[in-house]
Amino acid sequence: MRAIQMVDLKTEYQRLKKEIDTAVIDVIESAAFINGRPVQEFSKALADYLNVKHVIPCANGTDALQIAMMALDLQPGDEVITPSFTYIATTEVVALLRLKPVFVEVDKQTFNIDIDSLRKAITPKTKAIVPVHLYGQSCDMEAVMQVAEEHNLFVIEDNAQSIGGDYFFKDGSSKKAGTIGTIGTTSFYPAKNLGAYGDGGAIFTNDDALAQKLTMIANHGQSKRYYHDVVGCNSRLDTIQAAILNIRLQYLDANINARIKVADYYDAAFANHSTIKTPFRAKNNRHVFHQYTLILDSDKKGLRDELSAYLSDKKIPNMIYYPVPGHRQKMFETFGGFEYDLPVTDWLTERVISLPMHPELDNEQLKYITENMLAFFN
Ligand SMILES: *Cc1c(COP(=O)(O)O)cnc(C)c1O
Repeated sequence: MRAIQMVDLKTEYQRLKKEIDTAVIDVIESAAFINGRPVQEFSKALADYLNVKHVIPCANGTDALQIAMMALDLQPGDEVITPSFTYIATTEVVALLRLKPVFVEVDKQTFNIDIDSLRKAITPKTKAIVPVHLYGQSCDMEAVMQVAEEHNLFVIEDNAQSIGGDYFFKDGSSKKAGTIGTIGTTSFYPAKNLGAYGDGGAIFTNDDALAQKLTMIANHGQSKRYYHDVVGCNSRLDTIQAAILNIRLQYLDANINARIKVADYYDAAFANHSTIKTPFRAKNNRHVFHQYTLILDSDKKGLRDELSAYLSDKKIPNMIYYPVPGHRQKMFETFGGFEYDLPVTDWLTERVISLPMHPELDNEQLKYITENMLAFFN
């Protein structure tokens, strides 16, 4: 059996080596390292794939969130509602811009923003909502957009984990995750579903004026060479990364399907287990399984640590995404983080565990993982 990895970036490279090496060497030979043609080509290809008007590339997914918030002219002290149960980048940029992160609960089944909790958190100072499509599953965007419209709020979709996912509206139409709100953001961190071979990110919008502003902010607030209208930052996607992403984008759907197959295998193996709760798949979207995250539905102290150690001992990688929720991070102490009472978030934080998830897992490996998992509980 091949060694099991949490994420396997080498196997696909071996398969695409010729194509990728050629694309990288072409960039080096052209010497257009910054803003070379592949950057525009990739932005266009991704916009077509997502069916969104504008894709603005940038340096990483955290910058994408920051630039999105800068473009909306939010003022210090304005409140931005985000789930506490997410990766730190989502909430960190809110604080960095001197806005106020307001933490809300997630749904116990989907791990995504809880609509009742969102509604309750709205105050006259609320300006934006940042729903996070966690682990590969889209939030209930129809409900989020409804709340946003009622209260005239911006919506920034953090789509770092769910690129390629589809959201199905009640009327039967569908849109790609990240293209429903005011702005969507994503990350091309290598381990993401559409990963580069280094850092990268992008911002999506259907709004022409906003697209222009986002482009300007990502490039030192520049409107014309050496004319700077607003305070921006320097956030670019390397040409080499764009050339690699251009190739990898062509395999995104095949990779998503392979991930779904892995999830199906796990789901079948753990079906109806008394302690292992498999990921809930909401009917309103196609889950693209950035992570395969289980809930250990038990109050037994130390159970997860024991399982994790047992799996590691069997050379089965496993991770906790994430061990500390936003409202309990020291970073947010001065923002009143510790004063929140988010029992669902705490409950999930203590019980989630993620198993290896990537398109290269084979049946032999999956059999080994699931058999060992089940043996632990017997
Ligand atoms: C990865 C990630 C980010 C940040 O992306 P980087 O490219 O690492 O800056 C933001 N939000 C979520 C939910 C992520 O998973």
